[in-house]
Amino acid sequence: MNWEAVIGVEIHVRLKSEYKLFCSDRAVFGGEPNTHICPVCIGLPGALPVLNPEVVDLALRTALAFGCTIHFESVWARKSYFYPDLPKGYQITQFDHPLATKGSVTFSGSEGDTSVKIRRVHIEEDAGKLLHDRVPRASAIDLNRAGTALVEIVTEPDLRTAADVRLFLGELKQTLEYVGASNCNMEEGDLRVDANVSVRRSGSPRLGNKTEIKNVNSFSGVERALSLEIARQIATLDAGSVVGQQTLLWDDHREELRKMRSKEESHDYRYFPEPDLSPVRVTQEQVTTVLESLPELPRDRCSRFKEVYELKDYDAEVLTQSAANADYFEELVGIHTDPRVAAKWVTGPLQALMNQRRENAQTVPVRPAKIAALIGLIERGVVSESAAKSVLVILAQEGGSPSDIIEARGLMQERDIGQLTSWVTEVLAKHSEEVARYRGGESKILGYLVGQVMQSSGGTADPRLARDLLIEQLSNE
Ligand code: ADP
Ligand code: MG
Repeated sequence: MNWEAVIGVEIHVRLKSEYKLFCSDRAVFGGEPNTHICPVCIGLPGALPVLNPEVVDLALRTALAFGCTIHFESVWARKSYFYPDLPKGYQITQFDHPLATKGSVTFSGSEGDTSVKIRRVHIEEDAGKLLHDRVPRASAIDLNRAGTALVEIVTEPDLRTAADVRLFLGELKQTLEYVGASNCNMEEGDLRVDANVSVRRSGSPRLGNKTEIKNVNSFSGVERALSLEIARQIATLDAGSVVGQQTLLWDDHREELRKMRSKEESHDYRYFPEPDLSPVRVTQEQVTTVLESLPELPRDRCSRFKEVYELKDYDAEVLTQSAANADYFEELVGIHTDPRVAAKWVTGPLQALMNQRRENAQTVPVRPAKIAALIGLIERGVVSESAAKSVLVILAQEGGSPSDIIEARGLMQERDIGQLTSWVTEVLAKHSEEVARYRGGESKILGYLVGQVMQSSGGTADPRLARDLLIEQLSNE
């Protein structure tokens, strides 16, 4: 029998707001436990919440980036449950009147462009955190995170494979970063995904019983957990049993799912309107202002890069992965650099430099004008491409100008035939085996020999001249 998986996800996104949702404590990650707390976020009786407008703005950016309909009035609700990290005994969230509904996300899935409908986007507060490694044989509670602002994004059950869920989450994360709604720092728990999954006969219009997988902190974890759960459900159905509705906890270390509880229903939470807060009111002008301030979104930017700069799909995708890289690239192209050459430098040597220095395109000290100058020097034959890569590293360490560095370090491209010939002769003498293979018809080996000449010259040899001289000498018996 052919089975089909049906998946819908709920994503909690920590917004980039400076302050918490309903009080004036800073929303910071880490920090000494229980130092960013006040009567409001730890739920002392009588303390009253006041809405932080910055959060509404960030939530609107999120919802509008996904094309959602914004509701001019949305209502706060109390969701009651007991857990030690929730001192109030209830979470302030939005229930039957959320901020926004009905959007969509399109991403490149395994079967081409795929759309997932967004059911709703609402604002809610986060809970504190239990610390299990601070006190021997006891758990401690840190309430710094309590009351920080989240949006929850809920999709329709439109996804069909674990691999597509991962690709979808990638697109979602990229969009949230582009619009500046969240830092999307996975290590700090900025994105937390719950995945709902059921299995049905392929083509059936009915939904099967679902399970909900919680506690997954990486996109690869979501994919692995879902693959495992889909296989388990199929085996259950194949054996003629039914899948029980339940909540499962993912254990990333042991790669396994454990039953957490049988499925709760919404009435278990005794939702009711929050009496201490008036509804969130949003005006059409506010929506228009946010819409106008949204940047070009990742997929649009990627298509434009392919079209306007005639980049290959892969380069356009890599460059638009982060808005900062894309900005850097466009600034470089703006200083009269050939777009394909600029793309090669940003995705190649510059990216390597940023990885090595743990920096991004906004913080890396070598700015586009310096790379543009360096590319100009390569084009004019002053410096070889491989020497230019060393110049880039020196620029990052010491600053200065590319031409000064080239001159001071003697990195000018060597085109003197006498000098090149002596390197070529030396390389051929040292690599008699490769020479024999080349002469035996293995012409690919030439690239290796050019590399050797480049190395002997400390990267300064003109590679085209070196190549010509090599061919010349190799054809002299
Ligand atoms: P619940 O009331 O159990 O929380 P919801 O209808 O609120 O369920 O949906 C929660 C999430 O589960 C949504 O992302 C939705 O797309 C997804 N979902 C709902 N039903 C199914 C199903 N049968 N199979 C897979 N996902 C589902
Ligand atoms: Mg739910």
